[in-house]
Amino acid sequence: MAEATKTKANVPLMSVEAQHFEIQKELEQGFKKILKASDFILGPAVKEFEAAFAQFVGAKHCIGVSNGTDAISLALLAAGVKAGDEVVVPGFSFVASATAVAAIGAVPVFADINPKTYTIDEKSMEKAISKKTMAVIPVHLFGHPADMSSVMEVATKKKLAVIEDCAQAHGSFYESKHVGTFGTAGIFSFYPSKNLGAIGDAGAIVTDNDKVAEMVRILRNQGQRVKYHSEYLGYNHRLDSLQAMVLTIKMRKLTLWNNQRREAARMYAQGLKGLPLQLPFEAQDCTHVYHLYVIKTKRRDELQKFLNENGISTGVYYPVPMHLHKCFDYLKNKKGSLPVSEESCKTVLALPMFPGIGVGQVNYVCSKIKEFFR
Ligand SMILES: *Cc1c(COP(=O)(O)O)cnc(C)c1O
Repeated sequence: MAEATKTKANVPLMSVEAQHFEIQKELEQGFKKILKASDFILGPAVKEFEAAFAQFVGAKHCIGVSNGTDAISLALLAAGVKAGDEVVVPGFSFVASATAVAAIGAVPVFADINPKTYTIDEKSMEKAISKKTMAVIPVHLFGHPADMSSVMEVATKKKLAVIEDCAQAHGSFYESKHVGTFGTAGIFSFYPSKNLGAIGDAGAIVTDNDKVAEMVRILRNQGQRVKYHSEYLGYNHRLDSLQAMVLTIKMRKLTLWNNQRREAARMYAQGLKGLPLQLPFEAQDCTHVYHLYVIKTKRRDELQKFLNENGISTGVYYPVPMHLHKCFDYLKNKKGSLPVSEESCKTVLALPMFPGIGVGQVNYVCSKIKEFFR
């Protein structure tokens, strides 16, 4: 935890600048190395990162790709999902969890979420499964694991592939196992503001399945197993060496940075105790890594305005439930069909949360929220 700051106002919602100061020298050395080798695409730096991240997660394979969205599409294709197949996705997530399904011609079918953890509700998931369903995408939203034992039980019974969306959950554990290692594959985004972020777009797929890993490697690189011999209709969804180098260096700090987030969350929980708010929930045997610190209140818009007037930035993740995005009009989803997802969109508010957030900043936010409810 950084020292208490004297600054009273201007608490940002998130900040990645502080991270880079800590590792500036290492990054600069890394840049020099990459420039010298000039092996920019799928070079040794990519292999090095893939090996390190696979070990961190505890998966047999890690395949670096262009971003988290492409990672979902590739994982689905490698798991055998085809155009016209249905894939069950939670109704409350970042839109990419579902657009990546539509991108390969498959059909996203939405399930509701658990109101405490904001992750997929297994009963609603089971109801959403039809004869056409081939896969489910549990999302470990905000850094809290989905209930993987229930998800796996239903998926195994129905013989479905499970692609875990871990884009917000680097370093999050469920019953002592890292998220992304329960299903067929796990996908990660390294968008700069994620718990582990690149300095541009990047993503990865982790899996223990040799066939899935091989297929992802082929599909990310123009469907080629052998150069200039394309066996499959593939893509350019590769990870570049520069991003891989940055990720290898930043990965060494991930646990420390996640612990700083957890410490800030502990202070928020103490400071906001007793107020008419729903605080984030950490289920037993789960490690919440607080990608976002999300509270819930019916007076959300008023509170956000009040905090903004006091120099505190907050965010609404997410204002629109997945099934009601305009881009999914063609699916003819109905308003009212996923009540918990819809209600969450109206009541959630993310408070400032980032590694290195000051004790003074957290206390200031808590004091202003108390003042609001007085
Ligand atoms: C960020 C994110 C993605 C997409 O990752 P990109 O790297 O931006 O493509 C997918 N799912 C969730 C839940 C995310 O937060």
